[in-house]
Amino acid sequence: MAPIKKRILTGIRPTGPLHLGHYVGALENWVRLQEEYDCFFLIADYQALGDHLDEIERIRTSVLEVTLDWLSVGLDSEKSVFEVQSYVPEHAELHMLLSMVLPLSWLQRNPTLKAEMADLESEHKTLTLGFFNYPASQVADILLPRAHLVPVGEDQLPHIEMTREVARRFNRMFREVFPEPEGLVGRVPRLVGIDGQAKMSKSLNNCIYLGDDPASVTEKVRRMYTDPARIHATDPGHVEGNPVFMYHDAFNPDKDEVAELKERYQAGRVGDVEVKRRLAAKLNAFLDPVRERRAHYAAHMEDVKGILREGSRRAREVAQQTMADVRDAMHLKYTE
Ligand code: ATP
Ligand code: MG
Repeated sequence: MAPIKKRILTGIRPTGPLHLGHYVGALENWVRLQEEYDCFFLIADYQALGDHLDEIERIRTSVLEVTLDWLSVGLDSEKSVFEVQSYVPEHAELHMLLSMVLPLSWLQRNPTLKAEMADLESEHKTLTLGFFNYPASQVADILLPRAHLVPVGEDQLPHIEMTREVARRFNRMFREVFPEPEGLVGRVPRLVGIDGQAKMSKSLNNCIYLGDDPASVTEKVRRMYTDPARIHATDPGHVEGNPVFMYHDAFNPDKDEVAELKERYQAGRVGDVEVKRRLAAKLNAFLDPVRERRAHYAAHMEDVKGILREGSRRAREVAQQTMADVRDAMHLKYTE
């Protein structure tokens, strides 16, 4: 008998189209791991409501956009489960039960949550209980299919650590129901924005999207930040901390070309224009097949919707088994 595959759960909030940061931080690993693992890919629409309640229309369109992005980078709905959080109500049910297990202080000290709450405050947005609670919903999302591995960007690691602690606490209080999942960070833990800010992020408006057309990619690369200390192409430039070279490192498969450009840049023998022109060419070469697949699926939206319905149905079967176990472990049975 074939050994039972270990399981992955990972996901994305449907708050807009996906960008290069999502790709190198997460998606690239997902594509690779779907051969080896039983994968559950979650579109976390409930989680998106935490800070996008006034943009439900955007969430609605993004659910299908994200699915197109997934298919176009090579995630395979035949091998893996694509599920929508709100189509599998057990996510909300387990979230409620685990929020009884999770001490408030664990949320209060979570560094990613703290930073995100500070961002909301600086934008004068209301901090809702739902937002504060989102790392707990992520804990439930991961534990519901009893995942072993969670491939994510670096910012998500505190949530994975909390998931392990909740699993441990539940198992100790009741009985062994959940494995303790590991996090797995992608090749580029945090891709900088085209404006040089620490993270490429929709809300910072510094993204190259997987669905951008070639001309937009070239234009965004043209505007990209480089070495601020360098004024003339003949000045020796810095490659460390220089976004254009970080992108070359991340997306240019021709390592000799990158090494040669770095050398010339440091010696003041190549201008930003050429370094950017070559980057744009490599990015577009990477994105061309992605765009092609996207166009194919975009012409078959009924099939795409079917993938989400079928994936959510399969996810729900697994979820119901876990919930039966959870209720049993907690003795939440009164009439049987
Ligand atoms: P954005 O910040 O662009 O709005 P997001 O953080 O809301 O995106 P999520 O759904 O929270 O998107 O993240 C999906 C996955 O992509 C997570 O694992 C996250 O760590 C990863 N990720 C997002 N942005 C980046 C980035 N710039 N570099 C690396 N990984 C990233
Ligand atoms: Mg995020």
